[in-house]
Amino acid sequence: MTIATVNPTSGKTEVILEPHAPREVDARIGQAHRAAAALRETTFAQRAEWMRRAAAFLEENAEGLGELITVEMGKPIAQSVAEVAKCAKAMRFYADHAEQFLADAPLADPAAVGAGSAWTRYEPLGVILAVMPWNYPLWQVIRFAAPALMAGNAGVLKHASNVPQCAMALDALFENAGFPAGSLRTLLIGGSEVAPVIADPRIAAVTLTGSEPAGRSVAAIAGQHIKKAVLELGGSDPFIVLASADVAEAARTAVRARINNNGQSCIAAKRFIVHTDVYDEFAREFTRLMAGLTVGDPLDAATEVGPLATESGRTELAELVEDARDKGASILTGGSAPDLDGWFYLPTVIADLPDDARLIQEEAFGPVASLYRARDDEDALRLANQTGFGLSSAVWTTDAEEEARFIAGIDAGAVFVNGMTVSYQELPFGGIKRSGFGRELAAVGQREFCNLKTVWKA
Ligand code: NDP
Repeated sequence: MTIATVNPTSGKTEVILEPHAPREVDARIGQAHRAAAALRETTFAQRAEWMRRAAAFLEENAEGLGELITVEMGKPIAQSVAEVAKCAKAMRFYADHAEQFLADAPLADPAAVGAGSAWTRYEPLGVILAVMPWNYPLWQVIRFAAPALMAGNAGVLKHASNVPQCAMALDALFENAGFPAGSLRTLLIGGSEVAPVIADPRIAAVTLTGSEPAGRSVAAIAGQHIKKAVLELGGSDPFIVLASADVAEAARTAVRARINNNGQSCIAAKRFIVHTDVYDEFAREFTRLMAGLTVGDPLDAATEVGPLATESGRTELAELVEDARDKGASILTGGSAPDLDGWFYLPTVIADLPDDARLIQEEAFGPVASLYRARDDEDALRLANQTGFGLSSAVWTTDAEEEARFIAGIDAGAVFVNGMTVSYQELPFGGIKRSGFGRELAAVGQREFCNLKTVWKA
């Protein structure tokens, strides 16, 4: 596996980094292990000070880091800079709230358990392995690292092989801000070298964001070693527009929900399920807006859709579209790669998918939207749930009864009403079914990698 920056806008290899040899990997895990021991002895206040300093560094360097993100994986520059700012915000959030999230909780009636007093406390687990993807190269890591470090854990990062410069920037970030050396250590290794890291006795648990095969493999190995795993895998989120919805607003939001990050987001809306009464109106407006997007160089501020991050990603996306076309689906716009260098794919809307189209079951990781006509609300709910994924969802309605029915009826880790799915540090994030298990963000995400210790005292 080559560890390299290959600029998706040009297709040219810009930087190749030497992978870490096993001896270097061992030394780096050792550094993280020592950092975890040191972190256990620090106070929330101390860690919060370092965390705020690291956040300030990101804010001061948002332009340069944003450009690095865009060069390595191709998202439009404004979104890259916003990603850096979002990281800083989450870091400040955990600096402000970790102590409260992890506070001791006394049992109200200790006599019920024959104790003079009883309480629970959260303790760090040690070194957590984070296997992370390229699509939000800073944010995916920070949303793990900020709560983990604030809890007193250390991390080792196995980042995606196509974003090594982002990985090395993260390697320096926390210790430059004052954290013990090795509090977050990058391992430059390929996916096939992750198994011995999970097995290493110095690693306490693992978190992975990425594809289903990677999640399956990592969780199986973690299971063999009785180590906790949190998995955040793919999604094929429904975006449901019911008859009572504000259709024009829904169509505008639908475009952003589909093409943000060049369409390569686990929580992007991918299947657009529209009540038959408003289907034609929504399809017309949504297709018009998708067809009008500016595709081009992601470093150009006017660009709305840049290239896909990898050549193989574009090939897989094109194959899904070809499969649908061959089976008789209608391509309302797009459906091909534009005549540009790099790994671009045109914003695409597909309708009339036959039941055996791969797009119905598989995740389209790029700017490709599928439209479904629902006969009625029940049919919309059936279509929404006809996927093996269960990450998030959106429903557009102005009817209170409909709203309650869809909030309860959709099988997913989240429901957004009259909006699009966004990850917020204040809200838990994660899925069910083949989208994974465990939660990130908020208090619950921070507690995933803590030992909840029960204390009973006579
Ligand atoms: P991968 O799941 O292959 O990559 C994510 C991370 O997992 C990378 O660090 C990768 O390392 C690592 N990895 C891959 N295989 C293994 C393994 N067997 N054991 C341990 N680590 C592994 O995603 P891709 O980049 O290949 O993207 C493929 C698809 O995954 C996308 O089309 C999309 O459907 C989904 N995906 C979902 C994401 C999400 O946000 N939920 C993010 C990215 C992808 P390396 O780079 O070295 O292979």
